[in-house]
Amino acid sequence: MSSVMANKILIVTGDATDAKTLGDILHKAKDGPFDIEWVTRLTDALERLRAGGIDAILVDLSLSDSQGIETFDTLFGAAPQTPILTLSAEEDEALATEAVQRGSQGYLSKGHFGSYLVPQSLRNIIQRKAVEETLYLEKARAEITLNSISDAVIGTDMSGNVDYLNVAAEHMTGWLMEEARGHPISEVMQIINGATGKPETNPVELVLQQNKPMGLVAGTILIRRDGRKVAIEDSSAPIHDLNGKISGSVIVFHDITAAEAMAKKMAHLAQHDFLTNLPNRVLLNDRIEQAIILAERRGTTLAVLFVDLDNFKHINDSLGHAVGDQLLQSVAQRLTSCVRSSDTVSRQGGDEFVILVSEDKYVEDAALIADKILAALEAPHSIAGNTLHVTPSIGISVYPADARDAETLVKNADTAMYRAKGKGRNNYQFFTSDMNVRAVERQTIETHLRHALERQEFVLHYQPKVNLATGKITGAEALLRWMHPQWGMVLPDRFVTIAEESGLIVPIGRWVLREACAQVRRWEEAGLNPASIAVNISALEFRHKDFVEGVRTILNETGLAPRCLQLEITESVLMRNAESSTAILQRLKNMGVQLAVDDFGTGYSSLSYLHQFPIDVLKIDQSFVQDIASHKGNGIIVSAVIAMGTSLKQRVVAEGVEEQEQLAFLKARNCEEGQGYFFSLPLIAEQYAALLAAGIPGTVSH
Ligand code: C2E
Ligand code: MG
Ligand code: MG
Repeated sequence: MSSVMANKILIVTGDATDAKTLGDILHKAKDGPFDIEWVTRLTDALERLRAGGIDAILVDLSLSDSQGIETFDTLFGAAPQTPILTLSAEEDEALATEAVQRGSQGYLSKGHFGSYLVPQSLRNIIQRKAVEETLYLEKARAEITLNSISDAVIGTDMSGNVDYLNVAAEHMTGWLMEEARGHPISEVMQIINGATGKPETNPVELVLQQNKPMGLVAGTILIRRDGRKVAIEDSSAPIHDLNGKISGSVIVFHDITAAEAMAKKMAHLAQHDFLTNLPNRVLLNDRIEQAIILAERRGTTLAVLFVDLDNFKHINDSLGHAVGDQLLQSVAQRLTSCVRSSDTVSRQGGDEFVILVSEDKYVEDAALIADKILAALEAPHSIAGNTLHVTPSIGISVYPADARDAETLVKNADTAMYRAKGKGRNNYQFFTSDMNVRAVERQTIETHLRHALERQEFVLHYQPKVNLATGKITGAEALLRWMHPQWGMVLPDRFVTIAEESGLIVPIGRWVLREACAQVRRWEEAGLNPASIAVNISALEFRHKDFVEGVRTILNETGLAPRCLQLEITESVLMRNAESSTAILQRLKNMGVQLAVDDFGTGYSSLSYLHQFPIDVLKIDQSFVQDIASHKGNGIIVSAVIAMGTSLKQRVVAEGVEEQEQLAFLKARNCEEGQGYFFSLPLIAEQYAALLAAGIPGTVSH
């Protein structure tokens, strides 16, 4: 009889007849199958229930071990989920009704156990219980879900009164579900427009009117019960009943404060420099564009200052990036302190800063700020135990005079900054239109320079150096000339820097060295005594890894004695990296080559290094020689250098001697050698050969 699908019915009665009748009916029932178990006492019933598997209970409330409603209560307490029907005597209907009130599913009247009634009732209560259980589970699941999500959920009825809040909604609004129930949504969920501060219509009201889903206006602010404001984002939808009729609505919303803060942070990062937190190039451009629009409308001007630190790279290379970074931060602070809050200090990257001075009344305002910056950077920075000094070179361009758009303004300020660097750093320059001409000219020169070597457009001129005591020629300095087919003779000042910056100086310098050595050999072979030849070496050549070996190769190939070659290296090149300079100089010295410091006095030598360098000759820069007769200098530096050279046992050569008066001064201080127009201009090889043969007239002292 029994099958898997059979429902287990527990019959609890002391009345054996009732039990048998019920058993028979159920066994025969079409609604079956039912499995019947019969116990006579409450205690047995309870024991059986503990074992589980019972789908419904039929109980007679008067048992041998329990009577009346107590019987029901005990059973119901033991199995609250199992449907219970009571078997009641006709005179006891009141008791059966009481049991129903306390949770019983109904009762069967004794003596009236109709053959279809009993199984049908059992089937119904068992099914109802199952449906209830499913509903309960679904509801529980929904409840748990709603309370575990971080979104706030509020339900309302058709009139917009709140009938549900999940936990998140309680937290966000500050209303508990119990308090909120029955209050209008507009009271529980007060919202305003973030921009205007005006109250916003709750989307629930619109949903109920229009019976379709709605979203909040962007920038909506929720005012919590405690008055705090929270930025939110939401959507609301209608709820429909079984017939598809709208019966209420649900609104779902969440706090977007964190998302908004994150978005703000991202926007900030995209527009600011990570290291200094200053606006970056993107934001600066934006600000300049805005400032231009304003200036145009008001007829005012504005200025852009391009600030580049002069010796930053050196500090960064020698002390490391951590120190470099801190220095940039310190500089950023000082720059910011030099401008008004309406101005913008930005970092372009590296050691470059650009400042927008908006609403300039006078062009002089920009100059004032530039002066302020120069002054502000005068004081040293103390960073990680180092006392650091950086100076700025500043270029200024002005709207509308120099450019009418942001990009050109910055570009022109940059060009002006290069001029400031060229003028000896630590100063500022206003942009002038001829600077652009220069930039173009520079480009043209570089293009032509690329072909100059192969087209054999270079020649060397030779300028004698003279022993001031004897008037004899002690050697020549080889000076490079570029014979351009269209431009004519181009002097090194116009192209050597460009050749250095483009790297072209390396092959050009090698040509110079080879040509100079070869020329001396030709003079020697012609029976002349050229004594020695000095060749200028640029920074890039000097630091080139093949330089020393290149010199050796050229000496070998030309057959020139190493002592006849003198290499001139400027003081600033030597001082830039004194340690490695010493090593390179030493290798050259070991080869037997003579070494000279060119433009001495202009490169801030440290005496201790100068002492270390294996130097033979100091060439006093011509600017000091020119000072000899002037009121401000009176030759003080020249005197000092001569004295120093003597004590360091180095020969001193005075450059740029043009006048008798200078010569007399130098001779009086025992300067050994001189070079300059007073003795001879730089000459082509043939002329120089003639000079070697004849000697320099009128200089031999007696
Ligand atoms: P420098 O080595 O100091 O050369 C001396 C410069 O002074 C030369 O200019 C020379 O013509 C000029 N000078 C000579 N006597 C007098 C004088 O009495 N008065 C005045 N005012 N100037 C005088 P130049 O030939 O125009 O060369 C300029 C610079 O270009 C040189 O300065 C040197 O640094 C560089 N240079 C020249 N040739 C070469 C080269 O082959 N390679 C490299 N790397 N640089 C070179
Ligand atoms: Mg020189
Ligand atoms: Mg010089």
